Amino acid sequence: MFGWWRRRRRRRILAQPFPTAWEEILRRKVRFYGMLRPDRAERLRKLIQIFVAEKPFFGAAGLEITDEIRVVVAAAAARLVLHLDLSLYDDLREVVVYPYEALRHPKRRDDGPFLGEAHSFGTVVLSWPAVEAGLANPCDGHDTATHEFAHVLDHADGGFDGTPPLRAREHYRAWAEVMARRFTRLRGGGRAERRVLRMYGAKNEAEFFAVATEAFFERPERMRRETPDLYEELRRFFGFAPQEDPSCDQTDPAADRS
Ligand SMILES: [Zn+2]
Repeated sequence: MFGWWRRRRRRRILAQPFPTAWEEILRRKVRFYGMLRPDRAERLRKLIQIFVAEKPFFGAAGLEITDEIRVVVAAAAARLVLHLDLSLYDDLREVVVYPYEALRHPKRRDDGPFLGEAHSFGTVVLSWPAVEAGLANPCDGHDTATHEFAHVLDHADGGFDGTPPLRAREHYRAWAEVMARRFTRLRGGGRAERRVLRMYGAKNEAEFFAVATEAFFERPERMRRETPDLYEELRRFFGFAPQEDPSCDQTDPAADRS
């Protein structure tokens, strides 16, 4: 019943044209949007329409939620599931956005400032300035919104363990081997891994997947070159090769820049 009702509602949402003002927001704020192949840009717009209609946004600390915030955050979430299924976000109940540059846990003071977080109870918390900065530079391998929504995908099968629900049972073994190998090497300061991944990924398996997802979307060619097995597992999961779109890597200078 719910599935039927939702499909009907989604058809109604998609019957609406994509608002011109939203298109303008994407062009101005979401750099990767202008680099997408036309068919993927079209699919992204549809996913954004559904995401914005279905997911409640809340502004914290006095931040007023605008269409700009909704559309930009939805674009980051939608990109991850361009060739997956939006149902991976079914457990996401709300998106909370703060106006602060960096957030700080009221209790866990030792953790230091953070830019966002994803909770098992279905809340994603984001710093709006960090989201803006991440999407303004689509080539540096660092994107807060992408990172947090990767955690949501990871959790779609019930745990933050660095393994989202893969497409087929026979994919899990290779995935586990590659992730464990690259994670261990990153922790040990492996040169290839450090050229591709932020060191934050060495914290645990869940952070490794989120950081690797950022790099996969922002530095796909570098990842393919430096850590081809990791690239291949992510390509198989996300269902496409980001560098089929004109990518940052084409202007990526020295491969050994850290
Ligand atoms: Zn994280």
